[in-house]
Amino acid sequence: MTLLDPLTVVVMGTLMAAAMSVVLYSAHLNFPKEIQGLRDWALGLILLVLGAVLFSLRDLSPIIPICANSFLIWGVGLTMIGTERFYGVRPSWWIFNLVWGMAVAGIIFWLLVVPSFSARVATFSILAFVFYSRQVFLIWKYGDTHFSSQFFGALMIIQSAVVLTRGLLAVIYGSANVNLMIAGPFPSIYLAVGHFMILLMTVGFMTVCTRRLQTTLELRSTLDPLTEILNRRGFADIYAKEHALMRREGTCMTMLSIDIDYFKKINDGHGHAVGDRVLIDVAQVISKALRASDHVARFGGEEFVVLLPATGLDRALHVTERIQSALRAPRTDVPPYTVSFGVACQSSADESLEGVLIRADKALYCAKESGRDRYEIAPDAGMTLPARTELRA
Ligand code: GH3
Ligand code: MG
Ligand code: MG
Repeated sequence: MTLLDPLTVVVMGTLMAAAMSVVLYSAHLNFPKEIQGLRDWALGLILLVLGAVLFSLRDLSPIIPICANSFLIWGVGLTMIGTERFYGVRPSWWIFNLVWGMAVAGIIFWLLVVPSFSARVATFSILAFVFYSRQVFLIWKYGDTHFSSQFFGALMIIQSAVVLTRGLLAVIYGSANVNLMIAGPFPSIYLAVGHFMILLMTVGFMTVCTRRLQTTLELRSTLDPLTEILNRRGFADIYAKEHALMRREGTCMTMLSIDIDYFKKINDGHGHAVGDRVLIDVAQVISKALRASDHVARFGGEEFVVLLPATGLDRALHVTERIQSALRAPRTDVPPYTVSFGVACQSSADESLEGVLIRADKALYCAKESGRDRYEIAPDAGMTLPARTELRA
């Protein structure tokens, strides 16, 4: 019984794979550079298309099936390279070259020296299995628990099983069951699944890429591009989480409002580029002086804000002094500069972010008024709440 006309499936699958390669290449051009592998996948699909076209011309010359099979295995190999790049793994060109070389040598041997169709199918299928199963491993190891990774992984598992089954059938039963151009249940099922799977896997890869695009853009929207620390929006998100934790656990936290002294003079005297380097320097020095659980953000111009969760005033003043001395340490790559701090401790979860920031800014203003290069402490919000407690040594 013929389930599907093999030629129609091949033609349709090939045309759709060509279209998908355009989609992938266009995504490669447009997606941020953090999303790697799309170009390899696009090229891989083109090679699969070329392989399929050459395969249809295989009767013209014995060299054509060799080229067709080389292109097919090359194409599958490039999808592996693409998936490796996507997950930030250095492409294993040695696996690629070894498998590709073995495939071409095997195909030449079983075509010209000891002609055997089933041996060629077995060689091709089992080596393609290496490329697909490596991708299963990569998705299992580096993929997240999101649906997109599970979908992509499931498709790769199915495809690995399909090519392995075909290879084993070729070894066990010979060519009758695996010749794709002879109508029959297995070749038809294989053709349908095989061609459809190429398209589905491409969709699977696009799904993980789109998910990565979303997380990358979300992350970007919360970071300051110059200093790569949080921006105002990212800080507000973090504050909301810490604020909820503070309410639940009854702790207090401290906010530092930081402003570079006479920054205009640095810009005027050394140029805007040096001014930018100073801003990056401030961000780096503050970040290094903080614990992993603390947060630093650039709030615009040359103003920074630090949030010290579960930290009372005494401990916060130690942190402030640590930042101060780190900033005062002589450095060769930036001109000397000082900063002023306003320190505001939030002991009530009823106070809003705006409220604490206003108090910290007022204290900062006092520090500026009192001569700069110093810190001032904001008075309490004046709410009737438990006394401030020191929670961390
Ligand atoms: P004060 O001690 O009172 O804080 O004096 P100041 O000169 O630091 O104060 P002011 O807030 O008036 O100056 C801030 C300057 O920061 C003005 C602006 O040109 C500069 N600035 C804002 N954003 C950037 C930036 O992204 N890069 C650089 N290089 N300069 C910036
Ligand atoms: Mg300033
Ligand atoms: Mg300012």
